[in-house]
This record gives sequence, structure tokens and C-alpha cells, in this order.
Amino acid sequence: ILYNEIQDLKGNIRVYCRIRPFLPGQSKRQTTIEHIGENERMLDAHRLFKFNKVFSPATNQEEVYLDTQPLIRSVLDGYNVCIFAYGQTGSGKTYTMSGPNVSSKEDWGIYNEQVRDLLVNDSSQRRYPLFHNLSFTKIYHYVTFLIYKPAILILNFIPSQPNGLAVPEASMHSVKSTTEVLELMNIGLRNRAVGSTALNERSSRSHSVLTVHVRGTEIKTNAVLHGSLHLVDLAGSERVDRSEATGDRLREAQHINKSLSALGDAIFALAQKNAHVPYRNSKLTQVLQSSLGGKAKTLMFVHLNPDVDSYSETISTLKFAQRFS
Ligand code: ADP
Ligand code: MG
Repeated sequence: ILYNEIQDLKGNIRVYCRIRPFLPGQSKRQTTIEHIGENERMLDAHRLFKFNKVFSPATNQEEVYLDTQPLIRSVLDGYNVCIFAYGQTGSGKTYTMSGPNVSSKEDWGIYNEQVRDLLVNDSSQRRYPLFHNLSFTKIYHYVTFLIYKPAILILNFIPSQPNGLAVPEASMHSVKSTTEVLELMNIGLRNRAVGSTALNERSSRSHSVLTVHVRGTEIKTNAVLHGSLHLVDLAGSERVDRSEATGDRLREAQHINKSLSALGDAIFALAQKNAHVPYRNSKLTQVLQSSLGGKAKTLMFVHLNPDVDSYSETISTLKFAQRFS
């Protein structure tokens, strides 16, 4: 049973859950998940998992978008915002982050309108839709899109300028429109597909990180603000059966598990406000280190497949999420 808990957020870390619907063509199956309101009673036999927000299978992209908009807007106040999509393969991570198809504008995911707004940078007219009540004079947008396979960085753009990033091979691109962001993402996805027979399998076994940097100068104080938005579509969290996976495949699965648990450990330490945050244990946390601590807001968005066959993965996803809430 999932439960919406309205509460003070711990150290700017929030945890959301989205249950994807049964897919068309899937015969009506038994679901393992119930979603209850705040004051409903629950049966003793049920396990309760609390979230800052639960999105039921009926939730559409627009509702998710509206809910995350204030968080994403805080990038413009100089926050570093990280949104992670966590869950087993097929649970809807990519659907939430990018929509069903990156190159189609229908049903865009979390970053759709926000990025469209963020990236409308019409300097001739000085119209910045999201900035209308902020006194910025200059705004720059940079985008990086990394696809990171635990242990091996498999994709980068060709460097166009020194980047000052934790990943030396990555590059930053100045962008003016969402179309340009999508073009970069498509180049990235094509690069990722090279050498891979099954794109979907490949993508489920790598992390992808889309970063939008926003820089602005405040008119009154002349202070330079730098905010960033990281949209992280994580590798599938499913456990690979030792008896089935061997060699490279097993090593890869171990790397994925290691990097996901390192991420969990870092976010847990941040949620606890621990003095020591273990960033060093994975490349992913190293890449995001400067954006997870400090003036940061983090959203761990976990995804569930409602099917009874996914029960054990569902439980392990919920346990992962429960550490932070
Ligand atoms: P993941 O990235 O976690 O492997 P996907 O985002 O690719 O999962 O989703 C798996 C399938 O389920 C895709 O066909 C996707 O279009 C569909 N799907 C996922 N979430 C939803 C949703 N909320 N509503 C409708 N279809 C969804
Ligand atoms: Mg995916």
C-alpha cells in the first residue's frame, strides 16, 4: 500500500512514486499495489510505504509535469536540481523523464514544458517566460547529455569547449530552443545505440544524465546565479540472477547494482544530514557531487510495474525508496 505523506521535506530531498498502468494488449492481471489517501485505514496485514507523492496509474504526463514545475523552476533561483528515475526495466522511467518517444513532442515527460520555457531565450525581445518576475539581464543555457554505463562512459558529444565538468570527456552546448536539446539527445541516443543490437536492452543497462545549466545575472545586485537541472534516467534496478548471468553480463549487473546502491547511500546520508556523504563510491555520484550537496534539491522518482510478476522487484524498489522518506 502506498501512501501520500504531506510533511516537511527532509533536507530538500523528496521521494515520489509512480505506478504505471497495465499496457494495452496486456491481459487484465492482478495488481500488487494499492494507493490510499491520507486518512484511510489500512489492514494490518498490509505493508505501508510512505511517499511525498504517489501518482496512480491514471495519472497523465500533464499532472506529473505540473507537480514538478515548482521544483524545476527553482533552478532559476540558483538551485541544483537532480531528478532521478529509479525502477526496474519496463516500469516507466523513460516515459516519465522523456515521454514515450524522445523525438516526438507528444506526451513529453518531466522536462517538456519547463525546458521549452527555459530555453526560449529570445534576447532580441528580452522575453524570458519563466523569468518574468525575476530580474535577470543575461541568461545562458548549456546542455550536456551523458549516457553513462556503470564503469564505462559510452557516450559523449564531441567537445566544443572546455567544460569544467567532473567528466572530462563531456561537453557543453549552448542551446536556444527545446528543439536543439532534442537534437542533442537524439545524437546521444544514436551514439549509445552504436555497437548495440538491442537498443532497449542497452538503455536499460546504462544511466543517462541530461543536464541543463542556467546562468543569469541579477539586475539589482549584479550577482551571477548558476543553477542546474539534472534529469537522470537510471539503469534498470532489477537484480540479475547469478545463475543466468555470467562473465561480462554479470560484471555489468554488479556494476549497476553497485552504482545504484552508492547513489542510495549518498542520498541517504544527505537526507540524514550526515557530515560525511560517500560520493566516491561510484562515478555517478562523483559526476553529480556538486549538485547533490549544497544549494540542492533532489527528487527520487521511483517507478513501479503493477504486475504481480514484478512483486519482488516492486518490494525491492519500495525498500530502496523507503530509506529516504
Ligand atoms: P523503463 O524506462 O523503466 O524501462 P519505459 O518508460 O520504457 O520503462 O516504459 C515501458 C513501457 O510502458 C513503454 O511502452 C511505455 O510507453 C509504457 N509506459 C510506461 N509508463 C507509462 C504510463 N505512465 N502510461 C502509459 N504507458 C506507460
Ligand atoms: Mg528506459
